[in-house]
Amino acid sequence: MSRTGTLTQLKVCPRAAKAEMKSGTATSGLILKDKLIFEHSDAGRTGYSLPALDVPAAALAAELTRAEVKGFPEVSEVDVVRHFTRLSTWNYGVDSGFYPLGSCTMKYNPKINEVAARLPGLAGCHPHTPERFSQGTLALMHDLQGALAEISGFDAVTLQPAAGAHGELAGVLMIRAWHESHGRSRKKVLIPDTAHGTNPATAALCGYEVVPIASGDAGVLTAETVAEYMDEDVAALMVTSPNTLGLFESDIRKICDIVHAGGGLVYCDGANLNALMGIARPGDMGVDVMHFNLHKTFSTPHGGGGPGAGPVGVTEKLIPFLPKPVVVKEAGNYRLDFDRPQSIGRMRSFYGNFGVMVRAWAYILTMGGEGLKQASQMAVLNANYIRARLEGAYHLPHQNRSLHEVVFSDQDLGGNCHTLDLAKRLIDYGYHPPTVYFPLVVAGAIMIEPTETESKEVLDEFCDAMLEIAREAEESPELLLEAPTLTALRRLDETAAARKPQLRYCPPQEATEKKENKSCY
Ligand SMILES: *Cc1c(COP(=O)(O)O)cnc(C)c1O
Repeated sequence: MSRTGTLTQLKVCPRAAKAEMKSGTATSGLILKDKLIFEHSDAGRTGYSLPALDVPAAALAAELTRAEVKGFPEVSEVDVVRHFTRLSTWNYGVDSGFYPLGSCTMKYNPKINEVAARLPGLAGCHPHTPERFSQGTLALMHDLQGALAEISGFDAVTLQPAAGAHGELAGVLMIRAWHESHGRSRKKVLIPDTAHGTNPATAALCGYEVVPIASGDAGVLTAETVAEYMDEDVAALMVTSPNTLGLFESDIRKICDIVHAGGGLVYCDGANLNALMGIARPGDMGVDVMHFNLHKTFSTPHGGGGPGAGPVGVTEKLIPFLPKPVVVKEAGNYRLDFDRPQSIGRMRSFYGNFGVMVRAWAYILTMGGEGLKQASQMAVLNANYIRARLEGAYHLPHQNRSLHEVVFSDQDLGGNCHTLDLAKRLIDYGYHPPTVYFPLVVAGAIMIEPTETESKEVLDEFCDAMLEIAREAEESPELLLEAPTLTALRRLDETAAARKPQLRYCPPQEATEKKENKSCY
């Protein structure tokens, strides 16, 4: 038998057959399985062949022989290439299929924006280049700040923070600095239960006491509730809008008035801006400070831990506190302004993740104002289409019209099946599962964000799969409870993977030795 992996023709298990037949994009047919690279190893096999030595062997060579590295895999070039190519097919991304992960805006990002970010003059520019030779990059940052300010209704924008949560940190530090500049040291930040989890974390990190407040039955915060909690110790309200239920905070204007009347400021988590572009501006609603997620709304691929950017927009009164340096334009020239005595300081080395800014700027220019508006309209339409198709089969905890995402629950799922089982079964149908068990305000939440980039055909196939799974839950729940059946691995112990990661390879025969504390690879 060949030692080079196991290319397996899928034997369709009868339980899985139904899922396979139904889906247009499922993982079916040839599935590239593989074993560990160490298990491909064959003594003496190499990835190269060199001519025989015709000079005296140097001492160094002996130290470099593979034999010196105990247990190092001995494999050929093709073994290595096939092994890693196979593993790469186990990775799912937005370029391989629909990715309905709620709260993440996993939209398809046009490749032209990648091309822009890789233009040699932009990719190769060095942050220490003197300003007079960096006018183009500074102009790009300056104009992107202006475009984001216009889209969101703020007076100024900093591009420095590297992620959404980092933007929150910058925003709340500015709020604190503003209070301090008025001689106040307020202690509390109000945060509704429909906010993103990073909001309370940010407030706590900035030294504030987090006061959780309940959203109303309609899933949105009411002005009355905010009025009840507002007092002279409240520094700010942090509200996510649209909130994590995918609902528009319809009382936001009144809420901002109440917080301002009480001497506080309003922070809006703008990671969900994909629902609002060209339609409504948080700055016009009375919000004082908001972060953007360029890696969600503005065309930077994300999800794999790559670089992002969380610019922050502020109203006039917070401008003095912006992180420094600030990109300014004076007499037709661009420069970095470090002379900002009230600034909260730097949030990032140099000026943030420039490549992400280039993508965002290319995206905004290619889309144009009308295009951005249409993107938001389509994102909202797609979420409501899914909502309409699945309503009835899945429990909908809130009746308000959805914006860019829709949250169901597993309450009506049959056969004692839960959200996790549905998520695992969707994998058999070839779909990345939606966000599960978030937001926390909905027990067994199933949070779906289709984004604007999916066609009706894709949405219909996905909804068909969801409806089929709802039927399966009633009629043959074991299909859900045993899922996934078509993947290389089945249900993993996610807790053990996080708490006891196995980072060294132990050949089976040595596993027992390991228990006796002998090291292995
Ligand atoms: C994604 C997200 C964040 C956090 O953004 P990161 O870039 O992951 O730090 C904050 N709030 C909301 C609503 C989000 O969806």
